[in-house]
Amino acid sequence: MKLLEHEGKEIFRRYGIPVPPTGGVIAKPAQLTAALKRAGKGPWVIKAQVLAGGRGKAGGVKIAKTPKEAAEIVKKMLGMRLITPQTGEKGIKVDTVLVDKASDITREIYISVVLDRKLGCPVVIASAEGGVEIEELAKHKPHAILREAVDPSSGLKAFQARRLAFALRIPAEKLGDFTKLATGIVNVFLGLDASLVEVNPLIITPKNEVIALDAKVITDDNALFRQKDTAAREDHEATPLEKEAKKVGISYIGLDGTIGCMVNGAGLAMATMDSVNLAGGSPANFLDVGGGANVEQVTRAFQIILKDKKVKAVLVNIFGGIMRCDVIAEGVLGALKKVKMGVPLVVRLEGTNVKEGKMLLERSGVKMTVADSLWDAAKKAVAAAGRN
Ligand code: GDP
Ligand code: MN
Repeated sequence: MKLLEHEGKEIFRRYGIPVPPTGGVIAKPAQLTAALKRAGKGPWVIKAQVLAGGRGKAGGVKIAKTPKEAAEIVKKMLGMRLITPQTGEKGIKVDTVLVDKASDITREIYISVVLDRKLGCPVVIASAEGGVEIEELAKHKPHAILREAVDPSSGLKAFQARRLAFALRIPAEKLGDFTKLATGIVNVFLGLDASLVEVNPLIITPKNEVIALDAKVITDDNALFRQKDTAAREDHEATPLEKEAKKVGISYIGLDGTIGCMVNGAGLAMATMDSVNLAGGSPANFLDVGGGANVEQVTRAFQIILKDKKVKAVLVNIFGGIMRCDVIAEGVLGALKKVKMGVPLVVRLEGTNVKEGKMLLERSGVKMTVADSLWDAAKKAVAAAGRN
């Protein structure tokens, strides 16, 4: 899950990483005056809180010298669609902005922690050339990128922080501050089970202060079981339907197509989406109903799929491995008693007791198309969606 800049900076503060004084995040122009006051004396920087980098160049980061300027910026920025190279052409709507005290900048430095899959451990990546996208730097000046592999059991060692500080030309008297920051971001990475912690830029001020001016944190969802704070956070990228699905333990991702897919198992779900595409249609979602596929889960999955008004047909593709197909068929029929379908339904079962399962469906009298193979099901669903 991606965290917003202000969420990242709050975590930084908890880990003792210096960030600019802040007035907090606001959603309405009326909240600005109080925020400016909290941030302290101007100038201030107003920053769009969207999950995309490159905000600076797109007009999502603006400096205000006076409260009046700040008010004009906030009025324009709230509600605008920010389009950056990372958002796609539709952009992302700005619902909140962060009001920080502006910093004076002498130098911008890049520093991040990511997982190095080859080394099998976290690695600190840094460059004296901050403010630039690291991908650009990697392309044009790969030698300007420093790397320090981190032993996850001990964190960043002092000598490693010193080695980085030296290469980044950190002012000698600020070595302690830099070490605190570098160790801090490694500790955030380890403590939150993150997949990325990025500070771009880390700045040196004219007073030689070392401050994290920006914060990008991505956490690994696979660790949510032991990350209660993260699990309780709102996922800003998720749509309302995706949030609803998450609450009931269904893996669901909304897509642009018209064929609602209900499948058990992520791999089978992907194969189903591919088959729908090959048959000339396009899936309305990825949905993994989970191993159980019982009445309750199937009912919830149907309800979520059907809330998407783009759906013109529903394709159920369930493999009876641990669950027998007749039990699954009962689950589907039970769910159909509770849900008003409203669009054509195509069901394909395969696996243990498939004959019994299909017979149950066919004899139920419920209106649906029972398909023989995945390919057959995909073709039938695409045809049904086209007619509907
Ligand atoms: P991003 O473009 O989405 O990564 O947003 P950043 O927070 O990194 O800001 C982009 C750029 O705006 C930075 O690289 C800085 O050059 C500039 N900037 C951001 N905050 C301040 C500030 O407080 N003072 C000054 N002078 N420049 C800032
Ligand atoms: Mn940045």
